[in-house]
Amino acid sequence: MTTDLAATIGIDAPTGLLIDGQWSPGRAGVLPVIDPATEDPIAEVANATPEDALDAVDAAAAALPKWAATAPRERAECLRRAWELMVARAEPLARLMVLENGKALKDARGEIMYAAEFFRWYAEEAVRIDGGLSVAPSGANRIMVQRQPVGVSVLITPWNFPAAMATRKIGPALAAGCTVVLKPAKETPLSALAVAGLLAEAGVPAGVVNVLPTTKPGPMTEAMLADPRVRKLSFTGSTEVGRMLLKTAAETVTNCSMELGGNAPFLVFEDADIDAAVDGAFLAKMRNGGEACTAANRFYVHDAVADQFSAKLAGRLAALRVGPGLDDGIDLGPLVNSDTRSKVAELVDSATADGAKVLTGGQAPDRAGFFYPPTVLDQVPAGAGILGQEIFGPVAPIVRFTDRQQAITLANATEYGLVSYLYSRDLRKALQVAEALEAGMVGINRGVVSDPAAPFGGVKQSGLGREGGHDGLLEFTETKYIAVDW
Ligand code: NAD
Repeated sequence: MTTDLAATIGIDAPTGLLIDGQWSPGRAGVLPVIDPATEDPIAEVANATPEDALDAVDAAAAALPKWAATAPRERAECLRRAWELMVARAEPLARLMVLENGKALKDARGEIMYAAEFFRWYAEEAVRIDGGLSVAPSGANRIMVQRQPVGVSVLITPWNFPAAMATRKIGPALAAGCTVVLKPAKETPLSALAVAGLLAEAGVPAGVVNVLPTTKPGPMTEAMLADPRVRKLSFTGSTEVGRMLLKTAAETVTNCSMELGGNAPFLVFEDADIDAAVDGAFLAKMRNGGEACTAANRFYVHDAVADQFSAKLAGRLAALRVGPGLDDGIDLGPLVNSDTRSKVAELVDSATADGAKVLTGGQAPDRAGFFYPPTVLDQVPAGAGILGQEIFGPVAPIVRFTDRQQAITLANATEYGLVSYLYSRDLRKALQVAEALEAGMVGINRGVVSDPAAPFGGVKQSGLGREGGHDGLLEFTETKYIAVDW
C-alpha cells in the first residue's frame, strides 16, 4: 500500500535523486520508505549506485569554482531565502518527517524550526569568514591568513533528525563556498530531498547541492572518497560506522568531521532543585522519543534525593500519550524500525536481570508499529550492561551515588564523550564538575544544549570537529597562509 503523500502532508515530496539540478531515477531502482507507526510503505524513492554518486561528484566539482567565487552576500541570501521557505512550509515538512521517522508531530515541528535556523545562522556567518594579518617575529615579512572553501564535500546523515542533520551540514558548507553530495539515511530520505528542493527554490544553482538516497552506502561512499576531487567528509551517525569511514578516508587523506554516538550521563546532586531536575531529565530523555545522540542515557542521582527524583520522573513518563505521531495529542511515536525496538527491549530485559526495578513501562505493546513505552528503571547497579551503550529509546536507567567524585568517575567511565548534564544549586560546584566531565558539551541546570549558534560536538569516541556556531563554518574551510614581503 502506498499512502498518497501529497494528500496527507499538503505538498509534493520529491522522490528522485537530485543530481546537477535534475530529479533523476536511480540506477538501482527504488527503495521503500516505511511508516514506523503502521509498518506500511508510504513511498518509493530512487536508489543510487556508485555510478550515480560519481555523476553527482562530477556535478559538484563542475559547480564548485563558480559557487566558491559567488559573492558571500549572494550565498548568504540563498541561505536566508531557504530559511524563510522552510519556516513557511514548516507544517507540511513536519508531517512528512513524522510519516518516515515516526516521531510525534510536536517533535517534528520543533526539529523543522531548529533545522531552518541553521540556514539563518549560516546566512549570517557567510559574510563573516575572517582571516588574519600579523608581522612575522623576525620582522622580515607579513603573515597573511585566509580561509578558502575546502571543496567538494560528502555529507552523510542519520535517520533520527532527518532535516536538522542535513541543514547543520549544508548550511555551513554552502556559506563557506563548498558544493555537496548528501547521502541521507535510507529510512528517512524524503525530508532530505524536500530540503534540497527548497534550496533550489531559494536560488542555489544546479550542482551545488546533490542528494542520493541508497540502500548500499558502503560502496557508494568508497567510490566518492576514492575520487581526488572530494576533499571533505562530514559524517553524523554511529561510532562504529564513523570508525570505518575514517579508515576509508585515510587512503586519500580526506578532511573529516565526525559527529558520532553518545552515552550522556545526567547527574543530580543532593542540593539540586528536584522539580527543575525532573523537567530537565524529561527533556534530555524524551526529546525525539529518546532517539537522540544527546539523549540522557544514564541518570546518576544522589542517594538523598533519588526516591523523590525517580518517583517524579516515573510519574511524568507514565502520563505520556503513545501512538502514531500524526494523531492529535500524541507525546511519543514509535521507534524508527523493528531492530531499534528489539535492541531497546533487550537492554531493558538485561537491566531487570541485573537487578533494576521497573517503575513504569518495560514491555513492548502487542500492536502494529514499532512502539515501546516510556520506561523508568530504578536502582540500576553501577556495572549494568544497559549503562555501557546507547539505548536510543524512551528508557531512563537510574543509578544512585553518595559522593561527588564517585559520580564524576561513573559519568566518565565510557568511551563516549558527547554531552553531560548536571543539576545543582551550587554554581561553584557545578562548574567544577563540568570541567571534570569528559564531554564536548555540558548542560548545567538545563536538559537541552543544542543551539545552531553553539559549537556542537564530542570528545573521545563521540567525534572529531564541531557543527554549529562559527566553528561549524571553519570545518568547511582550509587555512591558507601567505608569507608576504611588501
Ligand atoms: P548509522 O551509523 O547506522 O548510519 C548513519 C548514516 O551512515 C546513514 O546515512 C547510513 O546509511 C550511513 N552508513 C551506514 N553504513 C555506512 C557505510 N558503510 N558507509 C557509508 N555510510 C554508511 O547510524 P544511525 O543508526 O542512522 O543513527 C544513529 C547514530 O547516529 C547514533 O549512534 C547517534 O548517536 C548518532 N548521531 C550522532 C549525532 C551527533 O551529532 N553526534 C547526531 C545524531 C545521531
